[in-house]
Amino acid sequence: MQELHDAFGRRIDYLRISVTDRCNLRCAYCVPPAGVAWKPRSEILSFEEIEQVVRSAVALGMGKVRLTGGEPLVRSDLPHLVRAIARIPGIKEVSLTTNGMLLERLAMPLAEAGLARVNVSFDTLDPVKFHRLTRFGEIERVWRGIEAAERAGLTPIKLNTVVVRGVNDTELCDLARLTLSQAWHVRFIELMPVGNGGDWGEEFPPLGERYVSVQEMLARLAPLGLAPAAATAGNGPARTFRIPGAPGTVGFISPLGEHFCATCNRLRLTADGRLRPCLLLDREVPVREALRLGADITPLIEQAVALKPSGHGLSASSTAAGAGFPQNRVMCQIGG
Ligand code: SAM
Repeated sequence: MQELHDAFGRRIDYLRISVTDRCNLRCAYCVPPAGVAWKPRSEILSFEEIEQVVRSAVALGMGKVRLTGGEPLVRSDLPHLVRAIARIPGIKEVSLTTNGMLLERLAMPLAEAGLARVNVSFDTLDPVKFHRLTRFGEIERVWRGIEAAERAGLTPIKLNTVVVRGVNDTELCDLARLTLSQAWHVRFIELMPVGNGGDWGEEFPPLGERYVSVQEMLARLAPLGLAPAAATAGNGPARTFRIPGAPGTVGFISPLGEHFCATCNRLRLTADGRLRPCLLLDREVPVREALRLGADITPLIEQAVALKPSGHGLSASSTAAGAGFPQNRVMCQIGG
């Protein structure tokens, strides 16, 4: 099997694919209050074009694929894409990141199509806050989606929680305690200033006050006596802990404070067909036109890998100013 390495010797074997820039929620940390203009349908890659990119990537040695968005499940025929990708020889795993709103109905068809597991964004246990933070979300619906994913065997289930001061920073212990009764992996993520540096509305704190570091999260979780846990397969950059005796784990993802660029193994494909070598840098390689001309995109994938920087070079202290962060896209146009 071929292996793909970047200029810094990192093995690149993971492709995150945004299948749409559209989303059925408007999470305050992800989408500006006014929303973003959706790309015309003609600019969005078809499933056949996405499959073509995956075939080329797999041939180069990229065996792991994650589907994201926007909200990937707004493309309700997503199981067709999952099936097509899962069948490609050399594919090791297809996973999904979703807000869970449409998961209840789609969990089983996705599992049958070959999806291995899901990560669900889940930021608060409070239904009122949930609705406020996501602007349209219904916690009960997401909860039913998570249960359906469990029944369908899309496990281990990971819950992604972006921690925002004044919103959910006082709930970390309650969220972590979910791992006492469920074999879930709750992962707390530091807020990244990507396209969300403006005012989120009067019920949210101003830019300079929203960020909570992993160190502060750990301090808030001290009453639970978290103990370091062996890394969970597929837990990527998360530092993993466990409440003693719990079946699930508690992870921390610190893209800024303790960034994990040295072990970065990924490339991103945006819904409009651009390969993005680094989440936090506005540097992209377009592949859509080449795909539509029937050209071999292998050299473009290699070019994108060659453009991967050693690190994003941004720090938590730049957060308040929003300086140096991506300007060309908001997070829902990248896929997280
Ligand atoms: N709609 C799907 C969802 O909600 O999971 C997939 C797309 S969403 C952009 C992917 C991930 O990015 C989610 O887990 C979300 O919490 C995370 N995310 C979005 N904006 C973020 C931000 N500003 N900082 C940190 N994580 C963010």
